[in-house]
Amino acid sequence: MSLRLLSNFINRNCHVIPKWHVQGRFSSTHTHLSDNCIFCKIIRGDIPSMKILETDESFAFMDIDPLSKGHCLVIPKYHAEFLHQVPDEYLVDVMPLTKKIAIAAGLKEYNVLQNNGKLANQAVPHVHFHLIPKPNQTQGLSIHWKPNKMDKKDIETKYQQILENLKVPL
Ligand code: 5GP
Ligand code: ZN
Repeated sequence: MSLRLLSNFINRNCHVIPKWHVQGRFSSTHTHLSDNCIFCKIIRGDIPSMKILETDESFAFMDIDPLSKGHCLVIPKYHAEFLHQVPDEYLVDVMPLTKKIAIAAGLKEYNVLQNNGKLANQAVPHVHFHLIPKPNQTQGLSIHWKPNKMDKKDIETKYQQILENLKVPL
């Protein structure tokens, strides 16, 4: 069947073709993944995971080394180390999925954490959002929150720089 005939066939019949079928053959779901990344391999199914949910843009699964019972990860199906490198269409999908899982897990108190860079505690260089239940003082995420005394002028200088840069399309 020529490409044009195939395309006409899909246009006419797409509504009756199950989504997975269309996805497997025609979607670009896996074109933004890396061959050397552990999370990309999990998305592809090359490495097993306890998958919770999957959309065209995101994948959610249980963390292998949890901080508390129910600790899971939601990741974009786009290989990038840093949040600012991920296209918006992937990012807008992640939060509703995280919310859905928080509700399904019956979470009451919890943290959503996303680390960027080794210094910021990122071990796997594929953007991921942790959903970490906080059932009590000892389990879940423990945060050492130590404000850095800063001159009000320094805060203002940074504030002005951010405002200035926002005027330029990023
Ligand atoms: P990070 O420190 O990069 O923010 O967190 C990485 C998270 O990925 C850790 O919580 C770690 O337990 C989890 N992790 C690392 N490798 C695997 C894996 O192969 N499978 C699963 N399910 N989780 C992983
Ligand atoms: Zn990756």
